[in-house]
Amino acid sequence: MYFKENSMPDIIQLLPDSVANQIAAGEVVQRPASAVKELLENALDAGSSFIKLVVKDAGKTLIQIIDNGCGMSETDARMSFERHATSKIKKAEDLFAIRTMGFRGEALASIAAIAQVELRTKRIGDEIGVKIDIEGSEIKSQEAFNCPEGTSISVKNLFFNVPARRNFLKSDTVELRHIIEEFQRVAIPNPQIAFSFHHNNTEIFNLPIGNLKQRLMAVFGSSYNNRLIPVEESTGIVIIKGYVVKPDFAKKTRGEQFFFLNKRFIKSAYLHHAVQSAFEQLLPADSYASYFLMLDVNPKSIDINIHPTKTEVKFEDEKAIYAFLRSAIKKSLGQFNIAPSIDFNQEAHLYNMPVKPIDGVYKIPTIKVDPDYNPFNSSTATSNQPTERELSNRANWEKMYSRHSNNQLEFEIKKEEENKETVFTDWDNELKESNLKSSYQLHNKYILSHIKTGFIIIDQQSAHERILYERILDNFERNKASSQQELFPKTIELSTTDFTLMKELQSELYLLGFEINEFGKNTFVIHGVPADTLETDSVALLEQLLENYKLNLQELKLERRENLARSIARSTSIKSGKVLTQEEMNLIIDELFACRMPYSSPNGKPTITTFSSEELDKRFKK
Ligand code: ADP
Ligand code: MG
Repeated sequence: MYFKENSMPDIIQLLPDSVANQIAAGEVVQRPASAVKELLENALDAGSSFIKLVVKDAGKTLIQIIDNGCGMSETDARMSFERHATSKIKKAEDLFAIRTMGFRGEALASIAAIAQVELRTKRIGDEIGVKIDIEGSEIKSQEAFNCPEGTSISVKNLFFNVPARRNFLKSDTVELRHIIEEFQRVAIPNPQIAFSFHHNNTEIFNLPIGNLKQRLMAVFGSSYNNRLIPVEESTGIVIIKGYVVKPDFAKKTRGEQFFFLNKRFIKSAYLHHAVQSAFEQLLPADSYASYFLMLDVNPKSIDINIHPTKTEVKFEDEKAIYAFLRSAIKKSLGQFNIAPSIDFNQEAHLYNMPVKPIDGVYKIPTIKVDPDYNPFNSSTATSNQPTERELSNRANWEKMYSRHSNNQLEFEIKKEEENKETVFTDWDNELKESNLKSSYQLHNKYILSHIKTGFIIIDQQSAHERILYERILDNFERNKASSQQELFPKTIELSTTDFTLMKELQSELYLLGFEINEFGKNTFVIHGVPADTLETDSVALLEQLLENYKLNLQELKLERRENLARSIARSTSIKSGKVLTQEEMNLIIDELFACRMPYSSPNGKPTITTFSSEELDKRFKK
């Protein structure tokens, strides 16, 4: 090969920082969820007691994390975006005693390289804070800024300058699922910290401070109260604390397997095996144990020198930990078998006591009840003799309302405003003062109604799905819901797989008021459907229900009751396109605001949009 030494220029050069950061970002931030993880961990490291996550469009347009932690000085704020800038280790030995989540000083630099970032921060006790805008590693502005103590970081338009990455992102549903996963991995082992999580103005999680069990119930639903078996053991090398889920509730799909090592989520096939083997013979075939286990070890005994986003760890005493974990779980399961109710009830009443919300304000919904009114049966007003179906319907409405009017159901309703400040809407007051008689239906799809400070638009189908969904979940807890008997029982013939599925669901469906019996090959007879079902074609109803159920199973891997509740709510709800009477609209509004989570449908679609009078006024200004 011809090579002429002196005439060739030197070709190696140092990459500019911004490029180096972008390359590093590729490792640290693969998708919105990775940025969420890093920022949540920083908020934890800052010693926060309240962390709020706000996400828009599954993190593609906005990820904002607000904490009330230690905050940063002006210089530190600026420094925090430099690569290898960390306050968490000073010398190499520190690496072996690390207890914080971060220590590499790469996250903020990486995120700032591939997004538009706004940082606002103020140290506790400081007079004034600082605001820094940085975009693609370039500082756009820095100014003294009056903000609350703590830190707020907004990450906008992630990957705006890396189109390849941006195009590579999955659908919002998938990306949001990853974010929820990361959020749970941080929120579960930190019940001493309150968290909230909003997506597109809908509150997805609101987790008050509590103990681990309360946190699990807040994340996975109160039904977990009687599913969890405590595990607690310690030796010189490891402290184990947490819960396993009773074998009866084991899942066919790999559901909830959480190990936390020194409060950090880890994956370990080896330790998973230890748990699974402790459950042996108790689990039905091909089911997985669910567990939430916190392991605490001396940081010196684990290899922390791993990639920051990796969740695998190497233990020094792997075999000993395996054996110990296995026996700790066996012991708990054994105790549980002997005395099924050991201490599970102890925390239950604690949970039922309302946990004081951060802002200290409780709301007690008031509901205007007219138990004689059956909104979905226009004949009620005219016929003088109520039919059996009407009577049972009425009983249901009454039951439902009495549930809400006994003041136990205290909760707060909140609204996330566009401008990232949380304001608490006093719905009670808003609705009382408004003239609910005048609701309007738009395009047979939306309900428009005034409230004192403006107006709201409700999506009738999503809202009704939410209402039914909560009612169904409550029905599960309350044993048998009433059914309306079919005058002429219908038969439904299914494919073999659907038939098997239906058989599997039969007992749960029964609890919800579906009375169906096997009737020869692949066929069922439908004797009754839930009393408040609007759909009159029970065969179509069940077919739809099965379809929804299967879809949820594939896409979301939901557990059975949750899936049934969603599927039934979906298939029995009032649909878009249905004309509603004034009373029906008012009832939907009332019931919606009596829901625990009125702001979104069970699938996370928004149910309500509010418009303030100011917004209206603004639009009519010259
Ligand atoms: P690391 O967490 O590995 O130290 P990061 O890039 O995530 O690196 O953060 C850099 C530094 O910025 C942190 O060490 C910390 O001092 C500071 N910092 C980041 N986020 C926060 C926060 N929410 N509150 C206070 N300080 C923070
Ligand atoms: Mg960090």
